[in-house]
Amino acid sequence: MRYISTRGQAPALNFEDVLLAGLATDGGLYVPENLPRFTQEEIASWAGLPYHELAFRVMRPFVTGSIPDADFKKILEETYGVFAHSSVAPLRQLNGNEWVMELFHGPTLAFKDFALQLLGRLLDYVLEKRGERVVIIGATSGDTGSAAIEGCRRCENVDIFILHPNKRVSDVQRRQMTTIFGENIHNIAIEGNFDDCQEMVKNSFADQGFLKGTRLVAVNSINWARIMAQIVYYFHAALQLGGPARSVAFSVPTGNFGDIFAGYLARNMGLPISQLIVATNRNDILHRFMSGNQYVKETLHATLSPSMDIMVSSNFERLLFDMHGRNGAAIAELMSSFKQGGGFSVAEDRWTETRKLFDSLAVSDEQTCETIAEVFASTGEVLDPHTAIGVKAARDCRRSLDTPMVILGTAHPVKFPEAVQKAGVGKALELPAHLSDLFERDERCTVLPNDLKAMQAFVSLHGNRGKPL
Ligand SMILES: *Cc1c(COP(=O)(O)O)cnc(C)c1O
Repeated sequence: MRYISTRGQAPALNFEDVLLAGLATDGGLYVPENLPRFTQEEIASWAGLPYHELAFRVMRPFVTGSIPDADFKKILEETYGVFAHSSVAPLRQLNGNEWVMELFHGPTLAFKDFALQLLGRLLDYVLEKRGERVVIIGATSGDTGSAAIEGCRRCENVDIFILHPNKRVSDVQRRQMTTIFGENIHNIAIEGNFDDCQEMVKNSFADQGFLKGTRLVAVNSINWARIMAQIVYYFHAALQLGGPARSVAFSVPTGNFGDIFAGYLARNMGLPISQLIVATNRNDILHRFMSGNQYVKETLHATLSPSMDIMVSSNFERLLFDMHGRNGAAIAELMSSFKQGGGFSVAEDRWTETRKLFDSLAVSDEQTCETIAEVFASTGEVLDPHTAIGVKAARDCRRSLDTPMVILGTAHPVKFPEAVQKAGVGKALELPAHLSDLFERDERCTVLPNDLKAMQAFVSLHGNRGKPL
């Protein structure tokens, strides 16, 4: 499988190189040159497979030529073997034909484990083969950091540095990062906000002198392997609800358009999906595009669903690429006008075509709490605020009651106690067994000023399993 850039100017890469790449050299994102397509018979024959076996069948075409089947199977079995639920991504019914797919049974209790548990293992496999080491520097507002650290903690060939804004992530989220020890794990609290952290990561990709030749790898959702891993659970859900003979609809709480883009790909690979709902919080650039064909940057608002607090949606470029007949030059132009003027619309016919599949809703904090309370009253289930946004959007935007509606349950509610309390849900939430002593564990973290050079000096000094690069 070869991968091409959404801006059409960077060289095509194979899977292995895409795994180790960040953005393409032309500033674009990598996508498969040709998406695999499965027949209905083929998909139907996968019913009842354990998650890791289904994952093998869905993802195999993407890694062909880079990872032999037997090795890939073994990696997948290990990856999904660490999940605490035997079904890996169980469905829980909320209402007539309405289901939450629980994607929070991984080590860090959010869906990001599906991709980052795999990414860590794939990186280590490929690096071992090449005899290389890499450094990861990632910024997090919460969920990505802990999932990336958990995914890489046993990697022999990776040193990981996670920057979080000092005192601005929740206690659970911080402790999920800072209580994991290893000579290759480095938590840095930056005296600044999330944007400052992200800016430092971006600048480090642009100028890598401080790494002395060691390769820098991206772990945010611009990394293709993360999207790839998320395609699998759309197949998993549909197969349990009568697919592929019957179509299924999905509602996806989204910020960077990564998770929902994976659903879009599942559909293009042959899975009958009749509707995809973009569920955002008040940071609603995606909703404003889907509802009114305006992709315009606005100011950032802090919400009760912090993992979706974004101003621009990095993976949206991948959808725009398809929307424009995979014309890289057209995307380069759109993105450059976006950078200069802060916004764009697409041609009316392209937008109308997109709307055949996608609907959207922006959900306020107040509505989020109302939904948490409502679902608790009617089912006894406690939703996390991100999942609640998905439920609200599913109920408002649903096109057909006959089609099963699956809401992606992106996090465990225990990660976001503030929203659950505000919703007035009295039920005490408990950390799952593997995290029950989280608040007794020691923490390890370095506080650094909001200064690029200081952060880079720290990485140079510790980037080789705690020793200088
Ligand atoms: C990351 C995250 C999201 C948003 O995912 P995208 O891929 O950006 O759409 C939603 N919910 C939770 C809990 C998350 O951690």
